[in-house]
Amino acid sequence: MAILNGNSTASPSSKVEDFHAALDILKKDYPERDGIDVKTLIDSRLNGGLTYNDFLVLPGYIGFPASEVTLDTPVTKRITLKTPFVSSPMDTVTEHSMAIHIALLGGLGVIHHNCSPDEQAEMVRKVKRFENGFILDPVVISPKTTVGEAKALKEKWGFGGFPVTENGTLRSKLVGIITPRDIQFHAELDDHVTAVMSTDLVTARTGITLKEANELLSKSKKGKLPIIDENGNLVALLSRSDLMKNLHYPLASKLPHSKQLISAAAIGTRPEDKNRLQKLVDAGLDIVILDSSQGNSMYQAEMIKFIKEKYPGLDVIGGNVVTREQAATLIAAGVDGLRIGMGSGSACITQEVMAVGRPQAAAVYNVTQFAKRFGVPCIADGGIQNVGHIVKGLALGATTVMMGGLLAGTTESPGQYFVSREGKLVKAYRGMGSIDAMEDKKAGAGSKDSKASNAGTARYFSEGDRLLVAQGVSGSVLDRGSITKFVPYLITGVQHSLQDMGVRSVTELHDRVEDGTVRFELRTASAQAEGGVHGLESFDKKLYS
Ligand code: IMP
Repeated sequence: MAILNGNSTASPSSKVEDFHAALDILKKDYPERDGIDVKTLIDSRLNGGLTYNDFLVLPGYIGFPASEVTLDTPVTKRITLKTPFVSSPMDTVTEHSMAIHIALLGGLGVIHHNCSPDEQAEMVRKVKRFENGFILDPVVISPKTTVGEAKALKEKWGFGGFPVTENGTLRSKLVGIITPRDIQFHAELDDHVTAVMSTDLVTARTGITLKEANELLSKSKKGKLPIIDENGNLVALLSRSDLMKNLHYPLASKLPHSKQLISAAAIGTRPEDKNRLQKLVDAGLDIVILDSSQGNSMYQAEMIKFIKEKYPGLDVIGGNVVTREQAATLIAAGVDGLRIGMGSGSACITQEVMAVGRPQAAAVYNVTQFAKRFGVPCIADGGIQNVGHIVKGLALGATTVMMGGLLAGTTESPGQYFVSREGKLVKAYRGMGSIDAMEDKKAGAGSKDSKASNAGTARYFSEGDRLLVAQGVSGSVLDRGSITKFVPYLITGVQHSLQDMGVRSVTELHDRVEDGTVRFELRTASAQAEGGVHGLESFDKKLYS
């Protein structure tokens, strides 16, 4: 029973002696929760256009361990990921290596298009082939293939185990298998593979289940298990390294009933992009992103309609948008997802040069509020510098976040590390609207085919432009190690953050923000300074171990 100085009508500020009554008093005298709700926070008439650093989320009640927080979240209307991380279609961020590894960790890599359609399609193919149950279209070679050619195929595909069949195709009689070890030190490049291939094969017959085949492969000492029909013709292949990968990547992004990783790639909205798209679809593309810095255009609306009609099985993400009105055009045209952000990217000077754009927190909230009425998931794209920004993007309604600069320094991004003038290990990172990228000057990454240049940068200029106006810069970012460590750090960080807020999932976060349970606070400039490290003579900022 509350005792308010013996007077139950006392003002909320009166002294309370019964400490056990704290929760009752809270309910009775403070019907409004502490902090402000999201709508008040983002109201630009009150607070101006906010971005991530301008506010904090207030803590809730921790009633469960962080490990119980789940991060499953949709990236399109039909496709759900197990983690909310998407890598940006930039030529210093996402080629097949990034796309494969981020997908293995539950996210999605969007392959850039600053390369020829064939190069891009080959990267999509590498993602789709990377992890399979039964590989139904294995790369097969013939007894006439030379060791040199087999080595070149290994380079091309990134794996070196090839079944050899009588006429070099699937559904022809299996005669042997070439493994990387067979060819590694064989100096006679003109020898036929029959000189070095293994012929004591463990095989399985068609009809074997994936589970049985996996068991057989585990027991055998072999790297590959060819599946043959009653006449000894090769019909499929199972790979030991895939088996290991299946065991080690429980979050891997795959469509239901598929063993293949989900693949995504970006294209533009020009007529020639339709041919590019056909090649990507032939390579197994699952999601296409229409890459435009201002997505609210007739070109994009037409492209969305074209794709939805011609490839009903392909999911389309439109963008970029930062307002409800822009989003409405693309939703009406039929998008399965939206990408939000204009001018918030770390290598971006759009807002400075074009005077258009929107602070990212305001953009994310206003677009997601509208898009969710149509069940359209949204990617918060750009400006993500740390775990806190990821969580804030999600809290404002995004279902996933897209990162460029944060991932560009990882081992899986394209290009080589080099030592900066200050003696630090760095990798190149450049905006796709930088002069370097638009002229396709090599940044240790990107297209090998200069004819195809500009495809991935078309979002930053028009056909008739006589000179290029930069909307991005070219620079470098610090080494971050492999994403196989960095993404688990992001996952754990987000889980702990959601636990602090008292929510168990991304969906619950969205619901509790909407019903006003999760509250916010604006940060003044000095509050922002207080929230960072301050007052130390020196420090070492190690983020995880
Ligand atoms: P970051 O994660 O902050 O580095 O931002 C990455 C995002 O910046 C990308 O996904 C694009 O939306 C955007 N972006 C990439 N290149 C440019 C550019 O040259 N100008 C403006 N925005 C860019």
